[in-house]
Parts: sequence; structure tokens; C-alpha cells
Amino acid sequence: MKDIVINEEMLFTARGDINRRSVTGCFIYLLLWFANIIPNKLYVSSPEICLWFTVVFILLSAGRVLLMISFETIYRKSALSWKLLFYPIIWLPAICWGALCSLSMILPELEPFSLVIIICTAGLAGGGVTALLASRVLTIGLISCLLLPGMVTAFLFAGDNLSLGLVFGIYWLGMYSITRIQHREYWRALKYSFMIKRYNTELERLNALDGLTGLKNRSFFDSSLKKEIKAATRVQASISLLLIDIDHFKVINDRHGHLVGDECLRRLSLVLQSEVQRETDIVARYGGEEFAIILPGNDLEHALFVAERIRARAEDIDQYHGDMKISFTVSVGVASCTPYPGYKEVQLIEKADSALYKAKNRGRNSVCS
Ligand code: GH3
Ligand code: MG
Ligand code: MG
Repeated sequence: MKDIVINEEMLFTARGDINRRSVTGCFIYLLLWFANIIPNKLYVSSPEICLWFTVVFILLSAGRVLLMISFETIYRKSALSWKLLFYPIIWLPAICWGALCSLSMILPELEPFSLVIIICTAGLAGGGVTALLASRVLTIGLISCLLLPGMVTAFLFAGDNLSLGLVFGIYWLGMYSITRIQHREYWRALKYSFMIKRYNTELERLNALDGLTGLKNRSFFDSSLKKEIKAATRVQASISLLLIDIDHFKVINDRHGHLVGDECLRRLSLVLQSEVQRETDIVARYGGEEFAIILPGNDLEHALFVAERIRARAEDIDQYHGDMKISFTVSVGVASCTPYPGYKEVQLIEKADSALYKAKNRGRNSVCS
């Protein structure tokens, strides 16, 4: 776990989570406010308070919805700008609600709603922390905005409210410590999911490799050829396939042993890799002492050119076993096509295979199409 450091992608995920989880907050203040004022007709007894808080909650809800839907756009442009907008838009309605809670303890016209408002305040704090737990600053800020004004007012205007002030204080402390654990668990889970993602990517990479040569393996080749043929069909581009086979390889094995044979395979692999230039070209070990190269977007002329270069370079590979120089040659079968809908990858493989067969029959160390 320690090797997983919090990176930009993780932060983006966590902040996206906060953004999604805080959807309820866009409406909850407004709904609770209406639930308080409409049945009790507060707009008749205190029209000014009613108007002010209604306007503020509507504006903040609208701002929050706007910010929520444009999260990705703003965040990708500047994470700091998003933070500077998001934090206040989370805290402002909470401050307003906290102030309302305080006023309900002081203003006689709000006193009848005091209990309901206090219940709402506690509920908002509880719900808020679960939504925002990915950010400790946001959670502590939220519970402070909601609970501290009520707590301070209760203490200042003590009387019957002293226990209410204490309850708010204890509630704040309880939430503070619970969110610490939840915050830690959230980040641990996030780190695990990123670690698994990283391992899966690495596993996928290793699964696609041939153990001896480090080239792509047969199963990667098979799936890639299928994909590349589909892509070439879509854009009506040409695609070429080279099948490369070491000549009389069995003799090398028989004469010098399999370890020397293995070294020949590795040396040839390096040559093949260095001879393909485009990132989209795929070099794979097709099986045994046979290799395959997919050249997407290449026609026969260019593929023959690459094949000839490979043949010539393979001839130049020198290897020494004691004093004995070991060299080998390769035969290359080349096939190209501009695939049409329904064209199957085996058609291209068969074409390259028969070209390879031709090259062998021609006396080996040659290129045929
Ligand atoms: P040709 O010119 O007709 O291709 O003759 P060849 O001897 O190369 O072909 P053949 O199919 O008769 O022999 C292929 C040899 O490749 C036999 C096998 O032992 C060897 N081989 C296959 N895989 C490996 C490997 O991973 N390491 C080693 N050292 N040899 C291998
Ligand atoms: Mg062979
Ligand atoms: Mg061979």
C-alpha cells in the first residue's frame, strides 16, 4: 500500500466521487426549508426572513447543480478553480442553515420551528459527512458550519439551551472522530482499487509476452491480427504480414544444443524488433523458430522491402560457441491485402504461409510473396 502514492488520477476519482455523492445536497436544504415554512405559513408571520432564506437557498442550489454538471470540464481545466468554487458552494448553504438554527433559538417568530430545525441540522450534518468523507477539510468544514453557530448561540443564550449547546458540541466531536476513520477507509479502498488496476495492467502486459524472446506471444498476435484487419477493412487500408522462419534450425539445435538455439532466437528477436519502425507494427513469436510481423497500413512493396532487410540482417548475426562461429539464415513469406468486409485473418496467414513455403522451396535464405 505504501508504494501507492496519491496521484492526480486518484485525486480526480476522489473528487468525482465527492461531486456525485453531493447531488442530494443540491436540493435537500431547499426541500427542508420549504418543509419548515409552508405548513407553518412562516411566509405570513415572517415574510422577510422567509424571502431572504428562500432566495439564498434557491441561488445556492442552482449554483451547486451548475457546478456539479460541469465538474469534469472545470476540473480538467484547473483543479484549483474547481476547489475554489466547490468548497464555498458546499459550505455556504451549511452556514445559512447553521445561522437559521441559531436564529430559531433567538427569534420568537422562529421559536415554534426550533425543534424541527435542530433535527434537520443534525440530519444534514450526518448526511453531509457520508457524502463528503473523501475530503477531511470539506467534512470538518461542513459539520462546523452546521453545528457551531447553534452550539455558540445555545451557550450564549444559555438558560434551557445549555444542554443543547453541549449536545451540539458532543455531536461535532463524535462526527469529527467518525469521519477520521471513514476518511482513512475510503482512501485505503481507493488505493486498493488503483493497485489492482495497476497489477491487472501489468498482468495483461506480461500475458502478452513470449517468455524466451520478450516479443509479443502467439495469442497477442492472433487477437491483434483480427483487430488490425477489422481496422483496415473500416478505412480500406492495406495491411501486410511477414512470416519469418529460421532455416535448418533443427541442425543448430542438434549440433550445438538447445541453449545455443535459444540464443539464436533471442538474437533474431532483437533484429526483428529493431527493423520495424512504426509504433503500430507488431512483432510476435508465432511459434518455435517462426516469427510474425504485422505491418498495418503497409502495401506489398513496402512489406517486401522490410522483409528483405530482415533477411539480410539475420544473415549477418554472428554468434560464437567456443571458437565456433554460428550463423543462420531466415526465409520470409510476405502477404498483403486490402481487406473487404468478411475477410478473415486466416486468409492472410495462409497467403503468407504459402509464400514462406515458396521461399523454402526456392532454396531458403530468401523472401517470397
Ligand atoms: P526449415 O529450414 O525447413 O525450417 O528447417 P528447420 O530445421 O528450421 O525446421 P524444423 O521444423 O524441422 O525444426 C524446427 C526446430 O526448432 C525443431 C525444434 O526443436 C526447434 N525449436 C522450436 N522451438 C524452440 C525453442 O524454443 N528453442 C530451441 N532451442 N529450439 C526450438
Ligand atoms: Mg518452422
Ligand atoms: Mg525453420
